[in-house]
Amino acid sequence: MPNGAGSPGPAQAGAPLRIGVLALQGGFAAHLKHLGSVGALGVEIRRPGDLVGLDGLILPGGESTTITMGMEQYGLVEPIRDLISAGRPILGTCAGMIVADSDHLGLIDMTTRRNAFGRQLASFEEDIELTGMDGRPFRAVFIRAPWVEELGEGVEVLAEVRGHPVAVREGKMSAFSFHPELTDDNRLHSWFVDQCRG
Ligand code: GLN
Repeated sequence: MPNGAGSPGPAQAGAPLRIGVLALQGGFAAHLKHLGSVGALGVEIRRPGDLVGLDGLILPGGESTTITMGMEQYGLVEPIRDLISAGRPILGTCAGMIVADSDHLGLIDMTTRRNAFGRQLASFEEDIELTGMDGRPFRAVFIRAPWVEELGEGVEVLAEVRGHPVAVREGKMSAFSFHPELTDDNRLHSWFVDQCRG
C-alpha cells in the first residue's frame, strides 16, 4: 500500500503502524530511527496533508518558539488537535512537551517552565524510574529541559527529577522533558507504539 496522504488509518492488520514525527525543526531524525527500530513506519510531518492516516504523532525537541511559529504558519495547529480528538496518541519530548501544554496546543492540562533546570544544569543525564517501564531504570538525557510547573487533576506523573514532574500523561497525550531518542534504549518508543496499536 502506498504511504502517501489518503491511505487509510489506523493501520490494517499486518501493516506497520504509521507514526508521524513533526519535522519543522529540531531532533526529528533520531525519533524516525527509533521508530524504525521498533517496527513502526516513521513519517516526516511538515504540512496538514501529511497527518492523514497516522496512528500516532511525536512532537520532538528543538526550539519551542520556532516549532510553534512553524505550526501556525503551515496550518498544523487545528489538524494536530483533531488528531488527538480522533483518539490518536501523541508523544511530546522536551520542546515537544512545551508545545503540547495549555499555553500552546492545549493537548494536556499543564503549564511548563522552559529551561527550568537553570544554567548550571543546562544539560545532564540521570537514571530515572519511569512508571509503566519495566526493567532497569531509564537513562534520561536533559538538554535545556523544561519541567512541569502546574498540572491538572487528570494528569498522571510518571517521573520526577528534583521534585518536579518530567514525565506526564493525560489520556492519549504523554510528555517527557528529556530526549528518549538520544540513547540506544528504545523502550519508550516501544511503549508509545504499543499505545498507538490501540
Ligand atoms: N529549551 C528549549 C525550548 O525552550 C527546549 C530544548 C530542547 O528541546 N532540547 O524550546
